[in-house]
Amino acid sequence: MSRFDHSEYVSITMEFRCNLKCVHCMIEGTMDELVPESLEKFEELLAHNRASRQWKGLILTGSEITLRRDLAELARRARESGFEHVRIQTHGMHLAQPSYCRKLVEAGVDEYFISVAGCDAATHDDITEVEGSFARTLRGMENLDACEQEVAMITNTVVTEKSYRLLPAVVDALSHLERLVQMEFWVYWPMEESDSKNLLAAHADILPWLREAIERARALGRSVEVKNFPQCMLGEYGDTLVNDQPQLFIDPAFWDRFMRNGFHQCRYREACASRQCLGLTTPYIEKYGWDESLLRPLPG
Ligand code: SF4
Repeated sequence: MSRFDHSEYVSITMEFRCNLKCVHCMIEGTMDELVPESLEKFEELLAHNRASRQWKGLILTGSEITLRRDLAELARRARESGFEHVRIQTHGMHLAQPSYCRKLVEAGVDEYFISVAGCDAATHDDITEVEGSFARTLRGMENLDACEQEVAMITNTVVTEKSYRLLPAVVDALSHLERLVQMEFWVYWPMEESDSKNLLAAHADILPWLREAIERARALGRSVEVKNFPQCMLGEYGDTLVNDQPQLFIDPAFWDRFMRNGFHQCRYREACASRQCLGLTTPYIEKYGWDESLLRPLPG
């Protein structure tokens, strides 16, 4: 089961630059066009929540939020305004610097959603296309694990043709981190009608590796969330499929690209009682077909 209730969180995109070049990047190509939310919008959000107490947690996100020099100040302002939690979504590399890591923790960032692309330097750096990135991300996570204040870490691994066989090993590589409380596996969506980067893997191929990763993460006491995978194929692990997301404030142009994925397609949609499943996407169907023999509508 999930450790966090997405309805208690709100996300705001405050940065669209990044210093990695992950092959699966969802906003590659639009990064220069998308506009971060303004400081005025940020302050409006804080004022709204101060008055309404609608959310407990604020997620500061974007391509790489730690590239914002005022990140600590944003976190401090959010905590002062009444948010119980401030989370950042990050590749974690900058946390390798102990003084920077300490600065964010002391400013009130108590949750860290960290992208881990592979299970070691060779695989992670191949996907991020930046040498040394795995070592820095891991060092950053170890700095968080050792800090005096109470913090929680969540990882996200994007599941592609390049990464699905690595999933159990990703769990193993991070098994020593006591504050890693949740691991997420997001099955890649291309943000267009075709899989032009040839990164989509077949669900049947992903499944055994994903199941093994879920089992290993749970054995370590971690909760697991899977995104964008047919719920019926997960069987006894169907409860790991959580496609809910916090409310997101982002440049509206993002949604034009997002809609090109064409979620919610399935031959059994009408007969299926799943409330979480996103079905198949347009690029998946174009590449692998409808998977009719693999899917089973869930009973009501
Ligand atoms: S039958 Fe289709 S909609 Fe239902 S869980 Fe399977 S993939 Fe999802």
